[in-house]
Amino acid sequence: MKSQDIRSKFLSFFEDKKHSIVPSAPMVLKNDPTLMFVNAGMVPFKEYFLGNATPKSPRVTDTQKCLRVSGKHNDLDEVGYDTYHHTLFEMLGNWSFGDYFKKEAIAWSWELLTEVFGIDKDILYVTVFEGSEEDGLDMDIEAYDLWKQHIPEDRILKGNKKDNFWEMGDQGPCGPCSEIHVDIRSAEEKAKVPGKDLVNQDHPQVVEIWNLVFIQFNRKANGSLETLPNKHIDTGMGFERLCMVLQGVQSNYDTDVFTPLIREIETITNKKYGQDKMTDVAIRVISDHVRAVAFSIADGQLPSSTGAGYVIRRILRRAVRYGFTFLDKKEPFIYRLVDVLSEKMGHAFPEIKTQKTLVENVIKEEEQSFLRTLDQGLVLLNRIVEETKGDTVSGEKAFELYDTYGFPIDLTGLILSEKGLKLDEKGFNEELQKQKERSRAASEVNADDWVIVKEDAETEFVGYDTLETNVKITRYRKV
Ligand code: ATP
Ligand code: MG
Ligand code: MG
Ligand code: MG
Repeated sequence: MKSQDIRSKFLSFFEDKKHSIVPSAPMVLKNDPTLMFVNAGMVPFKEYFLGNATPKSPRVTDTQKCLRVSGKHNDLDEVGYDTYHHTLFEMLGNWSFGDYFKKEAIAWSWELLTEVFGIDKDILYVTVFEGSEEDGLDMDIEAYDLWKQHIPEDRILKGNKKDNFWEMGDQGPCGPCSEIHVDIRSAEEKAKVPGKDLVNQDHPQVVEIWNLVFIQFNRKANGSLETLPNKHIDTGMGFERLCMVLQGVQSNYDTDVFTPLIREIETITNKKYGQDKMTDVAIRVISDHVRAVAFSIADGQLPSSTGAGYVIRRILRRAVRYGFTFLDKKEPFIYRLVDVLSEKMGHAFPEIKTQKTLVENVIKEEEQSFLRTLDQGLVLLNRIVEETKGDTVSGEKAFELYDTYGFPIDLTGLILSEKGLKLDEKGFNEELQKQKERSRAASEVNADDWVIVKEDAETEFVGYDTLETNVKITRYRKV
């Protein structure tokens, strides 16, 4: 089944169950001080859950563009290295705003997966919330009993707060959830380890596909839970993961959501996907990141040096760097993928079609300017190499290149090794640590998504770096 048909089948299934189909909201949030990007399908409906606004229809279904690159839900470090976390992904959802609750949500999810999509019941597992002492919550017996009507009890697993209590962030609507996982390993692999031991263990073929959240609480600023006046259903299914299951492939990147982009990258770079580890990582990174960047621009968020624009700029630079390092692309090329993207996604998300030229131009310019930075860095690195006595470049010098000129440290390491030189990594890390301490001291709060970059803070891009060294962007609480 083609991805396009999978998407429409999902929507029409819920339309038949009296849901109105609504379009995806823009991914970039402009007026929410608590969140930068839509990171889940429920975000645009937050006010309905809180009872501050009334929806036109109590039942809604959609596919929402989500971005998980900052804050509580940040998957960026995984992207490219695993096969099922993306920066931008589509979250298919069905919603009940104070209308139906667990019974229907569970029954319909099961009907859709097993009857409409025909997924074999024997590859599915479900989880229920085991309860949480700190929140004074018991196990979700109601969900457990409902699942028992559909699936054998040994396939219903209990999960902790981390996996089975869904929260958008530190505050806001939340509640216990039940997740549906698939085990798409071969029979041989299954005989070795039971699937239930691999659920939520980061196995690339035992993955979560759908989360059914039973929203009944609001997490207040002081951390306590208050019961909401009405109970709601919020479900989110990863579209690309569903396509992986239904198309019988082992990776989201082998679905028709990604293969056209990957073929185009292969053509442009003259590299092959599936032959070399880092080439593959680079191709996955680029095919993923171009979607995030293109849709952010189409939604009105241009790359910039502060706030959400800064996050977008860093994502694009991460893609450029992987292309530069592992695909030998020294000139702009990512912008050339927008054409394929618009062809592939334009029918479901027309904004990418209407904004195509703008998106291409912005990406091209960003690529050019970052490639210039890389070029300048190379000149400086050559100078450092010439001045180096012995076989090791000092951590201090490498750090200067990284910190002042934005030259990525792993690239430095790679170039040095090509020249038969070593990098004093320990020295570099010490410098990095010192800098982290300096910036920690300078910031009031080292926080997450909730905060906005302080305009006058040091937010100019100084190395894109930190994505690779696991240092999160330091943002500052707005004062
Ligand atoms: P995971 O445990 O795999 O990281 P999650 O529990 O963080 O997923 P949810 O917040 O429950 O995910 O989101 C609902 C659904 O969205 C998931 O069941 C999954 O199918 C999909 N999903 C979540 N994160 C991503 C991502 N980064 N890329 C693609 N799909 C995702
Ligand atoms: Mg996650
Ligand atoms: Mg999970
Ligand atoms: Mg989940």
